[in-house]
Amino acid sequence: MPADERNFLRELPKAELHLHLEGTIHSATVCALTARHGVRTTEEEVHRRYNYTDFVGFLDAFKWVTSFLREPADYALITHDLCEQLLEQNVVYAEVTLSVGVMLLRNQRPEANFAAILRAAEEFASRGLSLRWIFDAVRQFGAEAALRVVRAAKNCVYEAASAAGLHRLMHAGEVGGPEKVREAVELLHIERVGHGIAAVHDPALLDLLADRRIPLEVCPVSNLRTGALARQLRRSDVALEDHPLPQLLRHGVPIVLSTDDPAMFHTDLVGEYIAARQMGLSEGELRSLAQASFAHAFDLRSVPSF
Ligand SMILES: [Zn+2]
Repeated sequence: MPADERNFLRELPKAELHLHLEGTIHSATVCALTARHGVRTTEEEVHRRYNYTDFVGFLDAFKWVTSFLREPADYALITHDLCEQLLEQNVVYAEVTLSVGVMLLRNQRPEANFAAILRAAEEFASRGLSLRWIFDAVRQFGAEAALRVVRAAKNCVYEAASAAGLHRLMHAGEVGGPEKVREAVELLHIERVGHGIAAVHDPALLDLLADRRIPLEVCPVSNLRTGALARQLRRSDVALEDHPLPQLLRHGVPIVLSTDDPAMFHTDLVGEYIAARQMGLSEGELRSLAQASFAHAFDLRSVPSF
């Protein structure tokens, strides 16, 4: 891609709406994090662990890196790093997912971690970065565990005096079929779908998403690296150019282009826009994707001018 086009994408104001804090830890920070807990790790080892071709490999790496998130100071460290990464790409607003279900599983106090996260992010507000937080319950942990996440979210939201309230969103149709997306929309009344690329197999579902203006948070590089794209397309040799993003977009489905776990997928938001360009999207379509990322934010106070 020519340098001027890359610069255009970098300078475009962007919002990031599907981003897991725990998936943003680059190798140097991973080493600092493990060292805090007495474990020596090299960047080469992190690269090795961050190299996988399927979902199981990704989950193993996710479990490994998050096992070093033990104290509020660990969360502060990775939040600080994330904020620098976002500003460097002119991402001025982000809704960041926290694995609160995992914190509770490890007997941590989410309130203490969250307070450290907010403190770390505070200084970046004056540099033009607004962050909001999504508390994530892990489906496989069951309903009781999910309720504990809701309680923690309420405590933290009230403590932070946030006016944001709670919204509903869910990962669906990433590796599962289109029926998972339909259930999330019709039974759970979710407001945005994490991934949802399986919808491409069901034209009536695409119409439903387009009519109700329910966006899919599409993360192409993640889909490639976890094997989700290969699974949806039912073949093993897939490339970014095979991603259904253009088809979804041109069907009128609202799309929010996102990174998911950028450090773990060797990507960033500018990289996702470059990938979208490789899929044949025009400059105008890329600009409208950036605008859509703000249009579907849950708690945006001001929209940048384009
Ligand atoms: Zn995700």
